[in-house]
Amino acid sequence: MNRTSLRDVGLYLRGRLIKRLTQLASARDRTPPVVPAPIPEVIRGVRTPQALSRLLEGRSNPEREFAVARYFRALGIPFTAHRFETGEGKGENFTVDLGAGDRVLLLAAHHDAVPRSPGANDNAAAVGLLLNLIERLAASPPTKLRVRFLFTAAEESAYLGARQYVLGANTAELAGVLSLELCGIGDSIVIWDVAEQTPFLGTVGAALEGLGLRRDAGYHTVGRIPMFGSDHRAFAPLGIPAYGFTLVPSGNAEALRQFVFSPVRSALRHMIRRPVPFDTYHTPRDRGDTLEPAALALALRALEAVIVEAA
Ligand SMILES: [Zn+2]
Repeated sequence: MNRTSLRDVGLYLRGRLIKRLTQLASARDRTPPVVPAPIPEVIRGVRTPQALSRLLEGRSNPEREFAVARYFRALGIPFTAHRFETGEGKGENFTVDLGAGDRVLLLAAHHDAVPRSPGANDNAAAVGLLLNLIERLAASPPTKLRVRFLFTAAEESAYLGARQYVLGANTAELAGVLSLELCGIGDSIVIWDVAEQTPFLGTVGAALEGLGLRRDAGYHTVGRIPMFGSDHRAFAPLGIPAYGFTLVPSGNAEALRQFVFSPVRSALRHMIRRPVPFDTYHTPRDRGDTLEPAALALALRALEAVIVEAA
């Protein structure tokens, strides 16, 4: 393990505990496994976010990683691979840069999944969103902003891939980071792990309001969530404004609030009943047929608006 800190050790142990709990819950689940779609078929088909999520759904982590690289090669999209191997694990992050200028807006989605979960909403949907966005943005990339699409490995190991990426990146150029998690179910956007007002948060808020979304209705900003993390937490300690970006059903707002902000009670309830979208999270039931096209369309519009607002 290189450059190990006490924080890394803590994250590692937490990751191991979550993995074990998930394995126990999944062992009793009788949901039949997803048969993965052939990769060439997905690449040749309609490349909507939902369709592109099938590149990853139901595959092992090495296969998911391979599928992302194969997609870029098949479409001739220039990308950079960042391989890492530490005592905590190994994998490959990928980046695609579009646009020009000194400032970088970084949009991240992890390509790995927990064992025995098809990993559709967590996080193939987010990968599908970013792949679709790359194709749209490539047609007319921004001239005063670079958008970096980061596809990380090993997020489910306490965002190891993102932590490794940060070690080798020029983080001074980053204007802001959004990490996409659980973007395929719901009608309301949550920007989370917001500690304080930042210029980047202002940009995100203005973009969402420009779409007609109202704060505390169409979108929510919430503080640090104790029981979940995502790749943005690898950037936040460096002083970079970095948030989670997630969709939830607005009708579940109160149940979700209790669930995510009461870690002890949540842990006890973990095996019993969880509100949507956490009912399928890290389970064999996280399948592509639970994804909602309207949720993905909303997430896509929101991200496009953030890019326009940031440029
Ligand atoms: Zn995730």
